[in-house]
Amino acid sequence: MPVDGSVDRRRDAPANLGNGNGVVLPIHSARRLRLNPNTEHKPDSYDDVQLEFSPLLFSSLERYLPPTMLNMSRDAKVQYMREILMKYSPEGERNRVHRHREYKQKIISNYQPLHRELYSMHATNFFVPSFLRAINDNSESFRSVVSEPAPGIFIFEMLQPRFCELLLSEVENFEKWVCQTKFRIMQPNTMNKYGAVLDDFGLETMLDKLMNDFICPLSKVFFSEVGGSTLDSHHGFVVEYGINRDIDLGFHVDDAEVTLNVCLGKQFSGGELFFRGVRCDRHVNSETQPEEILDYCHVPGRAVLHRGRHRHGARATTGGNRINLILWCRSSVFRELKKYQKDFSSWCGECQRKKKERLELSVSATKLELLKRDEEPLPKLFLSNFLEI
Ligand SMILES: [Zn+2]
Repeated sequence: MPVDGSVDRRRDAPANLGNGNGVVLPIHSARRLRLNPNTEHKPDSYDDVQLEFSPLLFSSLERYLPPTMLNMSRDAKVQYMREILMKYSPEGERNRVHRHREYKQKIISNYQPLHRELYSMHATNFFVPSFLRAINDNSESFRSVVSEPAPGIFIFEMLQPRFCELLLSEVENFEKWVCQTKFRIMQPNTMNKYGAVLDDFGLETMLDKLMNDFICPLSKVFFSEVGGSTLDSHHGFVVEYGINRDIDLGFHVDDAEVTLNVCLGKQFSGGELFFRGVRCDRHVNSETQPEEILDYCHVPGRAVLHRGRHRHGARATTGGNRINLILWCRSSVFRELKKYQKDFSSWCGECQRKKKERLELSVSATKLELLKRDEEPLPKLFLSNFLEI
């Protein structure tokens, strides 16, 4: 979405439901959550609960319940959390979600996958050994395989060439099917016309696993202040650039807390990804500082991981075809908490700059005050004491 379009999109769709191009509606409820999670508390498992929301969402949200709620029965907690969550899903949205589920079901029951091995996670076939080792090891070893060319932008080798090939051929096969059957598919997002939503034709479970087991460990370490440790839903798609495809992509922020962007191929020139600093909603159009400028050239198999609010765009792909896998990872907990906050200086570059400016102003005002005091005549108290003696 364009940098100034994010708010518009939020009116269209609910959070973590359907294909999720959109986000959060205002909450009008007396039921509140704590601002900070109770990290000591071990949440119940909600795996067997058959409700409109993911069991994972209930488990993540439980740590934010008011302290008095934590020891209540699981049913009472479900009811409390469900009432909060239902505020995001008024009737119209519920219908939209229902329609989207039907749309997906229609595709899945008619489309014949070409490479079934892609539809469930086979980590050793999908990922390069260095990435697997780092994830299986511990957070210390992330640093050895991940580079950070500008603050908050992490780059690492991730996908095996064979996996990229298979996924490209699966997408091609899906597009062929769409063409043959004249099935009307939804575009990946409001900005990309070419590409496909992977979740819609059966890859949702695999991508969920990819987020939970391979992206969450990284985002917990690198992006905890924007919900990186509470990611609970995703929107996964491929975008296609080149001749007869999208040429470039305007400057925008993603509808995601954390974005994974991996180039799948093929041969191409141009198409550099440019970054211009992280911004909150209020500062999304503020100026870029020189140290926030980063231009990155895609390499097949290599991943870029960044905050969704990191402003970016893609330059024109001048030759060949470029296809990228994008995974928008979202945290409903973070989105809920954000509504209660005004200062985002833990991640917004402009909030940080303004905070620093305020601090500098107050330091110089204090200095001035002290200087003035130095120039004043001797205190009266001292003089009168002197006279009395
Ligand atoms: Zn800000």
